[in-house]
Amino acid sequence: MSERDSNIEMICSVSELADLFRRGRDIKGFLSQVVHVVSRHMKADICSVYIFNERLDRLVLQASDGLNPLLVGQLSLAPGEGLTGLALKELRPIREGRGQDNPYFKAIPNSGEEKYESFLAVPIIRGIRRVGVLVLQDEQSGRFSKSDAQALKAIASQLAATLENAQLLMEMGSRDNNPAPGTPSSRLVRGTPVVDGVALGACYIVEASGSDESRINAPDAEYRHTLEAFHEALDRTEHQLEELQERLEEELADVATLIFSAHLLMLRDEGFSGAMEEQIKTGTRPHEAIVDVANGYTRLFAASENPRMREKVLDIRDLSHRLLRNLQDEAGDEGDYVGQIIITGELLPSELLKLAAQNVEGIVLFGAGTTAHITVLARSLGVPLITSDDESLLRIPEDTPLALDAFQGFLLVHPDDSALERLQALKDGTERIEELAQNAQPETHTEDGVQVHLRATVNLLSDLKIACSLKAEGIGLYRSEFPFLIRSDFPSEEEQYRIYKQVVDGMKNPLVTFRTLDVGGDKILSYFPESQEEANPFLGLRAIRFLLENKKVFVGQLKAMIRAGGNQRIRILFPLVSSLDDFLYARRIVLKSLSFLARDGLGRYPVPEMGAMIELPSAVEMAPELAKEADFLSLGTNDLVQYTLGVDRTNEKVASLFEIRHPAVLRAVKRVADAANAANCPLSVCGIMAKNPETVRYMMGLGIREFSLEPALIPGMQQAISKMNSTTARKDAKSLSGLGTLKEVLEFFSALE
Ligand code: PEP
Ligand code: MG
Repeated sequence: MSERDSNIEMICSVSELADLFRRGRDIKGFLSQVVHVVSRHMKADICSVYIFNERLDRLVLQASDGLNPLLVGQLSLAPGEGLTGLALKELRPIREGRGQDNPYFKAIPNSGEEKYESFLAVPIIRGIRRVGVLVLQDEQSGRFSKSDAQALKAIASQLAATLENAQLLMEMGSRDNNPAPGTPSSRLVRGTPVVDGVALGACYIVEASGSDESRINAPDAEYRHTLEAFHEALDRTEHQLEELQERLEEELADVATLIFSAHLLMLRDEGFSGAMEEQIKTGTRPHEAIVDVANGYTRLFAASENPRMREKVLDIRDLSHRLLRNLQDEAGDEGDYVGQIIITGELLPSELLKLAAQNVEGIVLFGAGTTAHITVLARSLGVPLITSDDESLLRIPEDTPLALDAFQGFLLVHPDDSALERLQALKDGTERIEELAQNAQPETHTEDGVQVHLRATVNLLSDLKIACSLKAEGIGLYRSEFPFLIRSDFPSEEEQYRIYKQVVDGMKNPLVTFRTLDVGGDKILSYFPESQEEANPFLGLRAIRFLLENKKVFVGQLKAMIRAGGNQRIRILFPLVSSLDDFLYARRIVLKSLSFLARDGLGRYPVPEMGAMIELPSAVEMAPELAKEADFLSLGTNDLVQYTLGVDRTNEKVASLFEIRHPAVLRAVKRVADAANAANCPLSVCGIMAKNPETVRYMMGLGIREFSLEPALIPGMQQAISKMNSTTARKDAKSLSGLGTLKEVLEFFSALE
């Protein structure tokens, strides 16, 4: 095995270990396995890992393969102390043929390391945070080469995120041994990151929509006890909800129509507030009456077979939550979820929207996985989200302080001051759209001056503002399904027109790509039963197939899009095209829609540009023909990877198989790029591969010049592209597309760093 092969194998083993750790093995065992794997692969006599304890300002030896085991947990160094401390202090690798020759060398008594001459240490860093140091030692002098240092650096960066978790746990563990009297100890609940971000707040538990155990409890607080106070709370709640609805219709006009209407109706219902009032008049305290009546309703709704009825469980919880807060002595004005992190089961898009509108800080989805549209919606709404199946979540008392790190995928229960400080800093650092906007440039060029177009992927109207401030070159993908998913019936053509018009008007750059409805798969329209009864929905009546079966919906949407475009250039994109026939059929319907508009006196419009999404292996196969017929093509890489590899993009059990650098994926992309280039057909890329600098570099090398990505990611990608060279990228792409194993591909990419 070549040196490089063995390095790659080691990196793979280390990432497998990190995976094990994430799935709940103990830290000590994990670290011992790490040092064992690394020393074996690097053929070094000793491998040790030190973790930096910020509170103590010391590096502590946590595991070693080769050093005296009694030193583990005991040996500690200050930053700058010895060669290991120096690596941490100066944040650089230290490589010595004979460690003893370096003036910083410090012999550690009883370590057994006297006879080991060669020394290599690399700092483990995560962002700007110092996590620890990884050290190799060997008896033979001059044993470690530059490429060993490179390999160890790659391992350190691979491990950094996991070790940061370990560091946090250990700091907590060391504190738990001596907790201050009366201080509840911190605990960490692991999960899977879904939408990046940090949230700090108090726990509020809403169980699964269908659960009949979803009891409402009144949090510990001072409540007012008179009927008058109850009336005041009712008025206040009504007023808040009306204001909220108004504000939402301004900010999220596409999805917010009447979202709180059910709350308002329920609030004044005899069976709800009327029943509460009756109880209060017979001596029950108002907060108890609220809880009692609300629980009667949640039991009723939760038992229903109908998912829309089950959705009402959250409405009832929402309302009672608001009423209870407004009944408190020191109720704030907002009465909403400010300062709260919600732990909940299954979540519908409309439920997510309601929570986000009421300023929820973050969400932990318990048990159920998540769906692609919940992920996309939560991202657009800026709600950090993780999933977790740790049952202890449901036993966290309400109002317990929590800190959610949705970058890493964990929840801290009773976070201590240092964790809070760290996460607050991380939170502040991520809320920096204005800062990003200052550096955003209107155009993107590679180092050697090749222009690349970075466009925005837009899910909600609220994404437009960010897209404009970050200077997106138009919209590369507008996912039109959200207004459909949130409502309880198909939005009318007129409603759609108003939404699409705002999309066109809201974008300063005139290029707007409207994708027609992509429902089916995991995006289920609850009011359309046909879409709910498929055994394999991802292989079923999804996207363009749904529209071709439901032409009234299709024509309505097309007419709304064409009218919204007016005389401006727009692109219409058909998702999940599986044949040339699909595309030609859809194109005929667009032409028909234009003639309907003219016939009905609604105006004559230019023919929009029409494109096909390449997401299926069949579309890859037909790319040459599609490229000749279509005005443009768009590679939807989330689905392309899913269908090429046969890996469900929403199934966590196979998440590690969803590999965007798989040789089959790279080759499929190349075939499409070649077809588009040959036909001179513009090709844009959206989805996961458009956000990753490695795959973008590969695709640049194939001649692709348009990418669509979440607006907030545009400045980072602009920077990454400005450092790329088109000639080198072309050469590398050629080599990459010839490789046969994933291992070779990963090796190639890691050598580019
Ligand atoms: C894709 O498949 O890459 C894509 C952008 O579409 P969606 O994620 O909406 O399926
Ligand atoms: Mg797709």
